[in-house]
Amino acid sequence: MQIHDLSKTNSLLNKFISELRDVSIQKDAMRFRRNIERVGEILGYELSKTLTYSHQEVNTPLGTSTISLPDEAIVLCSILRAGIPLHQGLLNYFDKAENAFISAYRHHKDDPKSFEIMVEYLACPDLDGKTLILADPMLATGQSMVATFEALKPFGTPKSIHLVSVIGASEGLDFVSEHFNQDVHLWIATVDQKLNDKSYIVPGLGDAGDLAFGQKLQN
Ligand code: URA
Repeated sequence: MQIHDLSKTNSLLNKFISELRDVSIQKDAMRFRRNIERVGEILGYELSKTLTYSHQEVNTPLGTSTISLPDEAIVLCSILRAGIPLHQGLLNYFDKAENAFISAYRHHKDDPKSFEIMVEYLACPDLDGKTLILADPMLATGQSMVATFEALKPFGTPKSIHLVSVIGASEGLDFVSEHFNQDVHLWIATVDQKLNDKSYIVPGLGDAGDLAFGQKLQN
């Protein structure tokens, strides 16, 4: 897997990440959602540089302009519910993309420290020959990303695969790297060092779904 950690280059992206993390700012849910969306837009823009392009002609009122345009059929897939703002950011730029949605949640049995990923709702177009962009804002253990990819397999074989994430943990990146081929790209805004005993990213930002959409009752 090819990892593109955008925090290695100074850019305005760091400002959005700092606002997502900052306890004095992140509780403004509208700003939190919009910041995730802005990160999705930037990651999508960076990812777009690796797509295939062909020359096309555009008629202007005064003549003809030749321009390179991406010619890949894109499918954006996100995991409900925390993935919605990141999905929207990607869709703002890949506005012709088809879309897939999946619900995945952590099911804790007796031990609160261990869980399995439960995949339930899944709506997905044909993936054959298309560019699949799989988005998950928090790449903590990496299990949701891998479980989602496994669940998508019956829908066809994509031509290429891009993973998009806001914050990851090294452990999650290692897990995902083991499950995806060398030609898969991961676009990530920043990577933190560890997970806590509930598999939350530290320092991370907390619960992305709760910050974007409000606290849920169940754990
Ligand atoms: N999901 C979150 O919302 N935050 C984490 O730190 C890990 C998973």
